[in-house]
Amino acid sequence: MGTHVFKIARSGAAGLGQAYSVALEERMTVLDALFIIQRKQDPTLSFRCSCRVGMCGTCAMSINWQPRLACQTRVATLESETVHVGPLPHLPVIKDLVVSLEPFFEKWKKVRPALHAVNKGSKSLAVVRPDSEFGRQAQGKRDCITCGACYAACGIVGSSKRYLGPAAINKAMLRLLDPRDKAVDERLDAVDGEAEGVWRCHTQFNCVAVCPKGINLTDSIMRLKRAMLRPGQFHDKLRSAGGA
Ligand code: SF4
Repeated sequence: MGTHVFKIARSGAAGLGQAYSVALEERMTVLDALFIIQRKQDPTLSFRCSCRVGMCGTCAMSINWQPRLACQTRVATLESETVHVGPLPHLPVIKDLVVSLEPFFEKWKKVRPALHAVNKGSKSLAVVRPDSEFGRQAQGKRDCITCGACYAACGIVGSSKRYLGPAAINKAMLRLLDPRDKAVDERLDAVDGEAEGVWRCHTQFNCVAVCPKGINLTDSIMRLKRAMLRPGQFHDKLRSAGGA
């Protein structure tokens, strides 16, 4: 496949856009290229990865100005001999391509992502059938790997540090619709806030464009907005479950 130039944003004295020439083979990914650079040219280059198969979300970074998973981005698909690599935007840089996901998970925690079971003492399995109403609503929405790509691509996160961001709102929507979950009021409080909640979304679709799991986050936010305009919608599920 030939030689490519990787311009990598390095932290500290190394500075922005340090260039490395790398000879690549067909089908190599950006993560492969980073390992070659680290092993053969610069052992101080820092980046993070774990599963290497697009399941863990650890290697999310900015590649040619778009948040992507390095392990899932074949260099050939970029159609460019120069590849710009940097840390995910909107998150504090720890070193080089390694960011802290703390702001992302602080927002994630605000929507209470864990299940707060309606029937906590029940011994039977709380099964969600795929053909149930919630099963259908959750289809295509529950595969988030918390990579932070949508958060990094979101223009509203970029201008408002309090905005929860697409992944946290998608998680809140799933829990609010989930008939097994009872933490309705707490979650509604979290997603209804003027500065941090769903109403801040400007429907730019940047999150949808970058999500490596193909989750239509803008659709989740729009659905949640519509549902919140119907008072009692989420409390109805509790009444039918005998939880309120
Ligand atoms: Fe990553 Fe998609 Fe989850 Fe956002 S919703 S954190 S882009 S997997």
